[in-house]
Amino acid sequence: MPVLTRLIPSPVVVDINAGALDGLAGLLADQRISASGKLAVAISGGSGARLRERLAPALPGAEWYEVGGGTLDDAIKLGDAMKKGHYDAVVGLGGGKIIDCAKYAAARIGLPLVAVATNLSHDGLCSPVATLDNDAGRGSYGVPNPIAVVIDLDIIREAPVRFVRSGIGDAISNISAVADWELSHRETGESIDGLAAAMARQAGEAVLRHPGEVGDDAFLQVLAEGLVLTGISMSVAGDSRPASGACHEINHAFDILYPRRSASHGEQCGLGAAFAMHLRGDRETSALMAGVLRRHGLPVTPGEIGFTDEEFVAAVAYAPKTRPGRYTILEHLDLSTDQIRDAYADYAQAVSS
Ligand SMILES: [Zn+2]
Repeated sequence: MPVLTRLIPSPVVVDINAGALDGLAGLLADQRISASGKLAVAISGGSGARLRERLAPALPGAEWYEVGGGTLDDAIKLGDAMKKGHYDAVVGLGGGKIIDCAKYAAARIGLPLVAVATNLSHDGLCSPVATLDNDAGRGSYGVPNPIAVVIDLDIIREAPVRFVRSGIGDAISNISAVADWELSHRETGESIDGLAAAMARQAGEAVLRHPGEVGDDAFLQVLAEGLVLTGISMSVAGDSRPASGACHEINHAFDILYPRRSASHGEQCGLGAAFAMHLRGDRETSALMAGVLRRHGLPVTPGEIGFTDEEFVAAVAYAPKTRPGRYTILEHLDLSTDQIRDAYADYAQAVSS
């Protein structure tokens, strides 16, 4: 009888709780992530200072590194600076930029990364991808999954609410991304990974159908877990497919066409997902998504993030160019600009009530 299962690259520890930061030092020592306590901690220069003050006494063997920004250069500099320290692990303590920089730096010097997320703005906190700005714009770099993920809900609640909102849009967009993956499987024969699809979809559905509000611990718990599971689903799939389809192509198009005006990742992805669900004819899910996004204060029309309808139509028309080779409802329908305009008018009508 064959006993063939697979091993999933995943963190050794996931700790998502109110007050989780208080247990960070113990967690790192207990789990033998850093038995010697020698750690390189990457933090931001600004809001990181307060966390450093709080955590430094419990982490006497740690050395602290301020991360410049979210560029590839910053990440390379960080790795070079940490290289000579003989650390057990790198800790990325902060928001998405800090964690992405720390992920890349840790991969570069061959150390495991502990991700300590201080906001929930997207699903990259536990993913095998570091998103960094480079000379050509923004690049995605493959890196190992974090060895541990720690999310303190008390810290999350202190972050501006727009970060939580962004995470909601990113999580909900999984439902549209998985639908795109299934479409591509039917239409192009692209292989689909059922486990990765299940993890990503369940994460999206849990956030979509949770009755709680952005300030509730129960809701934040589900959102944080959903974003972590989404990151792991990308490791299972080997790329971002379970969490990135037409929704993310539209988001990238906003970033590229309107670089200084673009809204948050999750705002754009959530709007993109609601529209993509409408395009694929699933009016019920599109309306449900729009209602939930609206309830949490996310946009469902471009006007709500300062774009005209025509700018949105242009972004949708441009979207397939952002991710050549990815087959989604946009590539499938291959709409002309006039058809996108009509479809958007129909969508706007449907979500206006
Ligand atoms: Zn995303």
